[in-house]
Amino acid sequence: MLQLGWMTAAAGIWRRDDDLDRELRLPVPAYVIETAQERILVDTGLHPAAVHDPGRRYDGADSLRLFRLQLEQSVAEQVDLDTVTKVVLTHLHFDHAGGLALLPPSVPIVVQRREWEAGHDPAAVGRNFYLPVDYAAAGRQVTLVDGDHDLLGDGSIQLISTPGHTPGHQSVRVGERLVLGADVAHFASGLDDHRFPVFADDFAAQAASADRLRSLRDGGATVLPGHDPEVLKPGPVSQA
Ligand SMILES: [Zn+2]
Repeated sequence: MLQLGWMTAAAGIWRRDDDLDRELRLPVPAYVIETAQERILVDTGLHPAAVHDPGRRYDGADSLRLFRLQLEQSVAEQVDLDTVTKVVLTHLHFDHAGGLALLPPSVPIVVQRREWEAGHDPAAVGRNFYLPVDYAAAGRQVTLVDGDHDLLGDGSIQLISTPGHTPGHQSVRVGERLVLGADVAHFASGLDDHRFPVFADDFAAQAASADRLRSLRDGGATVLPGHDPEVLKPGPVSQA
């Protein structure tokens, strides 16, 4: 796991029915999965310019109004980006797709078709607080997948369709016993209590996706939450 920034906002933004007058600072994770042939980046963290001058990076968009951002080292400072063979985006929010602009355009990205289409539909962009400059680079090779997908064709890495937080959100199963859940649940407890952030595309779909990941967890897998400061620590990820 890479630490690609921090986001601070009221606890009640991050977790329904929590305090609105107490702030919570959440880590922004991304992951590198290495196989014999591949070096796969899962999500890309914050863009440095979004941290230093969000109004300029995002042309005055006020989607970041509720958040305070920090970044020590961007993905470009932590990974030799020329060695990355694929980027999997769990979804297109700024804390997952923001660093994409730092990658060479030759690196293909893999994203759910529903997410990509929502990211190019003006109404869906507004509803989901997408910031299209994050994923607008021309000439990038985009692989669109529909639902569950065997990423390398050998069963080792499975993309799992987990919509709700955004229309085409996906999680990543690595081997049998590790699942990068991403923002199905910001906190590990969210798989059980469904106290999601106050913003989502479809809360009912998000609850169904949480139930799906919970059953994987109950079957013995480690399911990493999206932004839980008690669980997410940079460095090698251990599985159950
Ligand atoms: Zn997120």
